[in-house]
Amino acid sequence: MSQAYPQLQLFINGQWLSADGRKSEPVINPLDESTLGQLPHASPADLQAALQAANAAFEGWKRTSPLARSDILRKAASLIRERADHIARCMTLEQGKPVREAKLEVLAAADTYDWYAEEGRRNYGRLVPGKTPTQRIAVHHEPVGVCAAFAPWNFPAITPARKIAGALAAGCTLVLKPAEETPATAQELVRVLHDAGLPAGVLNMVFGVPAEVSGYLLDQPEVAKFSFTGSTAVGKMLASHAAKSMKRATLELGGHAPVIVWKDADINKAADALVAGKFRNAGQVCISPTRFYVHRDVFDSFVSAFVERTKKLKVGNGLDESSQMGPLANPRRIEALTRLIADAQEKGATLHTGGKRMPGKGFFWEPTVISNLPEDAGLMNEEPFGPVALINPIADMDEALKRANRLQYGLAAYAFTQDSAVRQQLSNGVQTGMLGINTLNISMAEAPFGGVKESGWGSECGIEGLQAYCNIKLVSEDQ
Ligand code: NAD
Repeated sequence: MSQAYPQLQLFINGQWLSADGRKSEPVINPLDESTLGQLPHASPADLQAALQAANAAFEGWKRTSPLARSDILRKAASLIRERADHIARCMTLEQGKPVREAKLEVLAAADTYDWYAEEGRRNYGRLVPGKTPTQRIAVHHEPVGVCAAFAPWNFPAITPARKIAGALAAGCTLVLKPAEETPATAQELVRVLHDAGLPAGVLNMVFGVPAEVSGYLLDQPEVAKFSFTGSTAVGKMLASHAAKSMKRATLELGGHAPVIVWKDADINKAADALVAGKFRNAGQVCISPTRFYVHRDVFDSFVSAFVERTKKLKVGNGLDESSQMGPLANPRRIEALTRLIADAQEKGATLHTGGKRMPGKGFFWEPTVISNLPEDAGLMNEEPFGPVALINPIADMDEALKRANRLQYGLAAYAFTQDSAVRQQLSNGVQTGMLGINTLNISMAEAPFGGVKESGWGSECGIEGLQAYCNIKLVSEDQ
């Protein structure tokens, strides 16, 4: 057991609950496959208690002034910043990403608590002019009620933070199930709220078998809304389950981001940004740049600039400050990448570098660059969710848009060009929830984060992220 890794617990009705005879599962360090700790699973009675606590706390939290709610969230944000080194270390141990990346993510979680703390105070309704002199029409924003949230393992701080802060700022209560693979990071984000004075029951955290926990929570009439980040397949399953009782939903699902590198782009700048972006978190990122469509005039120079930089990446222990990429978070990605890369090679694609698991302990995969893939290769259709860049040439804008929009995914897209006409064509033509032009920075607390098509419903963050936890009530009054 690692010294820095905390004891894992459930958090129900303001109480921390340890294993105490509950079922549990080991949490594995992807660096060396050692066991970091044992994660207790919530029993059916625990799930019921968590839901009852959230339900009982709802009226009080709804009536708590937005200013008082804001104070707690802001205090929690400061505590996150104070504890950022510890939380980042926990994240690297359980998820594998370099500790420098982990710390940036933890600080982004603090920004998210701060953003919602402020935005919750500006949850304005509006007055609409009446149809007669005496009619008064008011639009109120009310918290939707008790919420359930399911967060994944690739961003163990920012994904729970968005769900927790959005719900709490709007006046909702929450039962959160973070990923079982990365529980300590989420636990520390819950702990700061407890330490900041959050009333018991407003936020509850459980772990277990994902399908059992979500199955239970989505069956309950008290749950008014759920939020899920993860794969499109699971998102569809949860949405259809929750549709039986018309629960509101925010779904942030898979992506397969196209990147258009136009002929006028600064190739070195584009390669610098895209290598950093592609191999961040070993590519296990829903908005990871994935399908590179490079104008044929600059295709060869872009491929060589990208491959040269990729070969220089330092892959290693995430706790080592000089590592630029850590291991994959779990062995499932190794199996998937082995299959997908073999398929691409069989279909005639060119492997420039990488392509296989690294020898020794841990779930390390070589940073990989592949070009000239046919559109029917699995990698061009299925989310790789790993450190694999796919580079194909394109001839013109029609081809760029046709290929970019080919898939049912529509989460993120990127472009590198200085040409304003090209930018406009891409802004209008790419079917996506988020488009980065000459930047990969599309994720921040102030702006909506979400996808279209099968990449999801609704947005987190921005004003939209708060509204996602609100009902709209119209009150029309007359004398
Ligand atoms: P998966 O589809 O089994 O699980 C994805 C996530 O959903 C995990 O966090 C898991 O705990 C959760 N989950 C699974 N079944 C659930 C259920 N019935 N109820 C509630 N939660 C459930 O796949 P995986 O192997 O963990 O991840 C691989 C794939 O998932 C990737 O290829 C990627 O497409 C997707 N993914 C996307 C994101 C994202 O940020 N959108 C994050 C993680 C994983």
